[in-house]
Amino acid sequence: MSFFEYQNGHLHAENIPLQKIASAVGTPCYVYSRAAFETQWRTLDTAFGDYPHSIFYAVKANSNIAVLNLLARLGSGFDIVSEGELRRVLAAGGDANNVVFSGVAKSKSELEFAIGKGVRSINIESVAELERVQQVAEKLGVVASIAFRVNPDVDPETHPYISTGMDKAKFGVPMGAAYDAYQRAAALPNIQVHGIACHIGSQITKTSPFSDSLEIVLNLVKRLANKGIEIKQLDLGGGLGIDYQGEVPPSAQEYVTAMLNGVKKHGITLPIGIEPGRYIAGNSGVLLTKVEYLKHNESKNFAIVDAGMNDLLRPSLYQAFHRISAVEKNSTGEKMVFDVVGPVCESSDVLGYDRELDTQAGDLLAVMSAGAYSFSMAGNYNSRVRPAEVMVDDDKVHIIRQREEQEDLIRGESLLPE
Ligand SMILES: *Cc1c(COP(=O)(O)O)cnc(C)c1O
Repeated sequence: MSFFEYQNGHLHAENIPLQKIASAVGTPCYVYSRAAFETQWRTLDTAFGDYPHSIFYAVKANSNIAVLNLLARLGSGFDIVSEGELRRVLAAGGDANNVVFSGVAKSKSELEFAIGKGVRSINIESVAELERVQQVAEKLGVVASIAFRVNPDVDPETHPYISTGMDKAKFGVPMGAAYDAYQRAAALPNIQVHGIACHIGSQITKTSPFSDSLEIVLNLVKRLANKGIEIKQLDLGGGLGIDYQGEVPPSAQEYVTAMLNGVKKHGITLPIGIEPGRYIAGNSGVLLTKVEYLKHNESKNFAIVDAGMNDLLRPSLYQAFHRISAVEKNSTGEKMVFDVVGPVCESSDVLGYDRELDTQAGDLLAVMSAGAYSFSMAGNYNSRVRPAEVMVDDDKVHIIRQREEQEDLIRGESLLPE
């Protein structure tokens, strides 16, 4: 089900024509669907049935506080990777006790902030980090609840830049070292072992990498139990893929069932946490952009648009594919093959290669599947202001982030004295 569909030739977000949003808010602009976010979250939640579970939405996918607030209202937890993300969750009405803190390079001050707020679990990625968490917790006079993020060395069969669970990745504690790391944790006075976590990559389109890593994690859980170290929560990370260009990833139910079968097989009934980002946000938004010029070279046609790699980095960063659709279907009726390129002074500033489009200067295009890792990766390269973000709710439009102002671009900068 998509919340971005044509009605009488006009592309809509829910019941609002995108054309109308472009007129009111300008372009480039991110447009999200409230119903899409909520449907995706609920679909995952329902798939667990009455099995005890937590959904920790991966904030980095789309961290707008309006998005976080909608998910918090559904009862979502959050997976964060920085103090800034925790502050967003709190500003959005999220509960620190329903937050897990991931990331390889947590600083002392970030740990102080997060432990002070009482997050559910610090997902530790190295023994050096464990020692730091002990120090911080001791200083605060509290006991920090932790999990190790282990690295099961499973190939998620996705793009190498979004693969995190293989031995050569910087993420997680290698399986060979995890057992000893838990023993060390169990011996520290200000540490309480809470769980075990893993996250092997993103845009995964099969269930087997998830089942394989679960199997490896459960074997460690059993070895630890034999040593008297009791794991209270399994956190199986995020990674479930979505349809960008015809991929057929497992459904939420297939994905959850694969995990439930995995735990059943071992007779384990521990609560399961997952950290979905892309699955919830990816197809819940589009990037709306206007064609500034058409340009025809001998070998190429270009549709030069007003959104660039600073607004949407994924195509340049990981050769990611996003469908690109004309917002109005009623142009000349003649299609041409275009490279859809942005204004940024880089040859890699391409939103899509070789797209068949019927489009003219002044027309609007929608870059689809731009709800995850899109605005959250936007930057100011070429001194471009970051776009506005809009949330559509049925036939209502809410601006959830103003377009940046030109003055914002030099905020905090200063000249040397004379
Ligand atoms: C990025 C990330 C996620 C979310 O991944 P998706 O593929 O968006 O579901 C979950 N957990 C951790 C630790 C991450 O770094």
